[in-house]
Amino acid sequence: MGWAIALQGGGGDIPRSLPPERAEPRLATLRRCLDLGVSALQDGRAALDVVELVVRELENCPHFNAGKGSVLTSDGTVEMEASIMDGTTMGCGSVCGLSTVVNPISLARIVMEKTPHIYLAFNAAEAFARDQGVETMDPSHFITEENLERLGQAKEANRVQAMEGQPPIDDNSRTGTVGCVAVDLSGNLASATSTGGVVNKMAGRIGDTPIIGAGTYANTLCAVSATGKGEAIIRHTVARDVAALVEHRGLSLQEAAERVVAAVPRGSFGLVAVSGAGEVTMPFNTAGMFRACAADSGYSEVGIWPDADGDAGGES
Ligand code: ASP
Repeated sequence: MGWAIALQGGGGDIPRSLPPERAEPRLATLRRCLDLGVSALQDGRAALDVVELVVRELENCPHFNAGKGSVLTSDGTVEMEASIMDGTTMGCGSVCGLSTVVNPISLARIVMEKTPHIYLAFNAAEAFARDQGVETMDPSHFITEENLERLGQAKEANRVQAMEGQPPIDDNSRTGTVGCVAVDLSGNLASATSTGGVVNKMAGRIGDTPIIGAGTYANTLCAVSATGKGEAIIRHTVARDVAALVEHRGLSLQEAAERVVAAVPRGSFGLVAVSGAGEVTMPFNTAGMFRACAADSGYSEVGIWPDADGDAGGES
């Protein structure tokens, strides 16, 4: 059985004019995390462990909108959310409204493994994190200068980032949700996604990332992690739809993912997905999506924008 892995670092209105000093740190982190995930898979680690490991690293990188570096609510606070799903057992865990947990994805896994529930949110999730002894920091730890600036710009323009039909708030990339999907040497699949949400969101807003079937899904056929406009992703149950087309229509992973991407309004979202057979696909209908993948077959890609011919291309 061949392993495969794909990572996303956020999709959206990422302009081609994005300065290298903004693009490079993210690409470098994606390459480093891809290498980390590939080594773990080659060492025989389980897909579930690998997606958690990779997403933790991405959460720890302040250039992405997850963990430290999460974008801010209209109150100037951080409300992080994450979910994880094990395709073999259909076990899943999800957290939202976190303001002090360093690695929300690991708390989501603990919810999956140690509680009879799937979702835990806000104060109760914070209290659970303390009970479980996971690492926490003062809320100020997660707030970066860059995100304070973005919130200021969004407030000035009086809008929430990435809402349908609205132009970008600045010429910078405001996306950066992170996700990882993997299939291991035994054919087990897993998916993990983590985010700070969208800039200037209302306090209490919950996006697609912690919603199983919307931003994250895995079963025995494929694993999917999405990024983009959360409300559109929820409405179209994007991640589950890809799996359903594979399961019920017998489509290949690529056909299923492309069909789902085509059915959602342009500019809304992108996803990364792998199948049990080791296929990888990373389609998006936004201007760009930070992404990286590798497979046992030797295929590898790291990129932001589509190729001129419209394929999701990059370095390979
Ligand atoms: N999907 C995330 C949300 O709406 C944002 C993103 O992926 O950029 O919360």
